[in-house]
Amino acid sequence: MLYVKELLLQLLFVLTPFVLYTIYYRDKAVNYSKQFIIVTCMICLFMSMTFPSSVQEGIIFDIRYVIMFFGMLYGGMTAGIILLIEFLTYRLLIGGQGILSAMIIISITFTLSALLSILYRRRSGNRKLITFIAGISFSVIPICTMFATEYQYTIQHLKFNILVMPVQNSLGIWILISLFNKAVSDKELYLRYLQSEKAESIAHVAASLAHEVRNPLTAVMGFLKLLNDDSISREKTHKYIEICVEEIKRTEFILSEYLSIAKPNSSMIENIELVQQIHSIVDIITPYANMNNVSLEIHNQEHELYISANPNELKQLFINFIKNAIEACSLLVTGNVIIRIERQSKYAKITIIDNGVGMSDEQMERLGSIYFSTKNKGTGLGLTLSYQLIRSMNGDVTVRSKSGKGTEFTLSFPLDM
Ligand code: ADP
Ligand code: MG
Repeated sequence: MLYVKELLLQLLFVLTPFVLYTIYYRDKAVNYSKQFIIVTCMICLFMSMTFPSSVQEGIIFDIRYVIMFFGMLYGGMTAGIILLIEFLTYRLLIGGQGILSAMIIISITFTLSALLSILYRRRSGNRKLITFIAGISFSVIPICTMFATEYQYTIQHLKFNILVMPVQNSLGIWILISLFNKAVSDKELYLRYLQSEKAESIAHVAASLAHEVRNPLTAVMGFLKLLNDDSISREKTHKYIEICVEEIKRTEFILSEYLSIAKPNSSMIENIELVQQIHSIVDIITPYANMNNVSLEIHNQEHELYISANPNELKQLFINFIKNAIEACSLLVTGNVIIRIERQSKYAKITIIDNGVGMSDEQMERLGSIYFSTKNKGTGLGLTLSYQLIRSMNGDVTVRSKSGKGTEFTLSFPLDM
């Protein structure tokens, strides 16, 4: 019975990387980093070596091979070497009779892990088979070595050795790799969905934008035709040219703003002036509002509010909220969306108010959960992504809504002081 308790403890330690991954990356729109793998594996190795399974003082069994192999698979050779150094240092510190065997075994399993991890990462590699081979080897190699180096001990505790090693290593490796793989591929799927949601909302805005860019171009063409007439005065010529330049500048501004949103996200956090930023976002989305017959206004009580954020994410986020507000009003004759910007002690507060269809209490409860949408062509990902971004900026979002009356979303972000 004692074995079982120790075994279960080791199997619990093996879950460390998976558990920490689910906690740490749960609401992040990125996948794991090598540093994360290294740190979690180090914790895991430390715990399992501190509370190993053992029947004789000085001879200990833990999940070192499993965790080193896992570290190499996901964190590369660097992770493997760091874990090896941690293991050697700690094992020498613990000391005891088993040191010699431990060193022999680790030199074999470490080399084998390196080879298997290269095969595993190959596209054509049969990953299940490789994991299976690793699990079996990490059980058989130690047992055989112990027979050679600690014959007396091994025979005396044969049951323990034959039982504990395979279960601990084979089962451990299988549990950890399959759970971690599942979590990582779920995350990849989710990230791909978010990407396609982004592409879709941008495509909507782009369609109306193309429409809107035509107007200044038509105006410019008209003035250029007028300029072609030799009889107009110098003064008028100047004025026409000025108007043309203004129109072209504005078009250029809107297009470059649009392009900066369509650009893939960089993870740069910058100090951003929010009022100016919202004005330029409204510039981009105005054509979409016009197309839906909705008026769009900004009421700002402040002229400068600085926050830290990733500019692309911030734009994406506001586009999502404003686009939803416009869509909520699209069937009204007098659809109206107001964006209010104000300061509330240490926060920038932005309220997006529409007089559209509104939501029932039940709908409000489901808001922000993945795939919840009431629209025919909706994806239900816009708010999921936005809520996640707001959380990652330490901001907050609240909503008030009445069915048939309209909706009010209030976002707040901590100000840079
Ligand atoms: P989508 O716009 O693709 O439906 P979102 O995640 O952007 O996905 O929005 C989810 C749902 O939340 C919408 O389908 C809609 O029912 C509701 N919603 C969001 N914003 C508003 C709003 N301003 N007014 C009414 N309903 C809204
Ligand atoms: Mg939406």
